[in-house]
Amino acid sequence: AKAAGRGTFKFFSTDMDERILTRRALDADMRRGLDRDEFFLLYQPRYEADTMRLRGVEALVRWRHPQRGLVNPGEFIPLAEETGLIAPLGARVLRMACEKAVTWPDLSVSVNVSPAQFRSADFVKTVSDTLAATGLSPKRLELELTEGVLLEDVERSGRILADLKALGVMLSMDDFGTGYSSLGYLKSFPFDAIKIDQRFIADLQATGDARAIVQAILGLGRALGLSVTAEGVETAEQLALLRQDACEEVQGYLMARPLAAEEIDKMRGEQGSR
Ligand code: C2E
Ligand code: CA
Ligand code: CA
Ligand code: CA
Repeated sequence: AKAAGRGTFKFFSTDMDERILTRRALDADMRRGLDRDEFFLLYQPRYEADTMRLRGVEALVRWRHPQRGLVNPGEFIPLAEETGLIAPLGARVLRMACEKAVTWPDLSVSVNVSPAQFRSADFVKTVSDTLAATGLSPKRLELELTEGVLLEDVERSGRILADLKALGVMLSMDDFGTGYSSLGYLKSFPFDAIKIDQRFIADLQATGDARAIVQAILGLGRALGLSVTAEGVETAEQLALLRQDACEEVQGYLMARPLAAEEIDKMRGEQGSR
């Protein structure tokens, strides 16, 4: 769906008229889906690279559509961003993730926040209310933001980030390395962590550009005191190289796919009794 680009949706034909119609249908569908609790979360484990200890999970939204079955976020998040539905949907995601995280006291939970959600009027209040309502310790919540949140109105974005930081939550820059003002942003905003974009990990080999880029990002992270996560780790070789280069945290299909909450429960039980 990502390859289809902004404003096009894989569900449907590329015919223009049809697309306009079906965008409206998709929007209506999503609103109904929100009413009927059709959205739920999977959780992808994140591991400490050194020890392979389970450190946290990333919440990833899914839609159980009554006719279409399981729908991935790439198929509805872009439209939800355009229509503004991302604010209530994102609030629901945050609430579900925090409620779950309370039952996993040893883990941190990361939640993706898209630009329109970040800029919506009461985002900071939503985060603060959700923490209060669920009782989750703020330091166990990590918000994953993309550079897109910083592109417009840098001053206002800076204030929102500072307000979030004041709540005590962790801030992480997702898909790092894909935008182009990353360095300046990292220095001037209160981020705690960065996630190396998975395209660099996909190309990672012992020699070559991707390795050099990954090493540079790891060096940058160390210099700025940021923890670095590599996502999209699919092979033992990629993992070995990341450990060799002292990457702090890894996530990817090699270790675990996004899993149902019950599978995380099981995993924690096993790790605890080891
Ligand atoms: P992302 O935040 O970069 O999340 C990583 C995506 O890569 C996830 O896809 C995950 O399932 C996938 N992935 C994880 N490990 C591997 C791997 O080893 N190989 C490969 N090829 N892929 C891997 P998913 O769940 O389909 O999510 C896609 C995007 O949708 C996310 O990218 C994020 O930008 C967005 N998204 C997901 N959930 C939410 C949400 O609750 N709210 C918002 N605003 N956006 C979300
Ligand atoms: Ca993410
Ligand atoms: Ca990412
Ligand atoms: Ca650190």
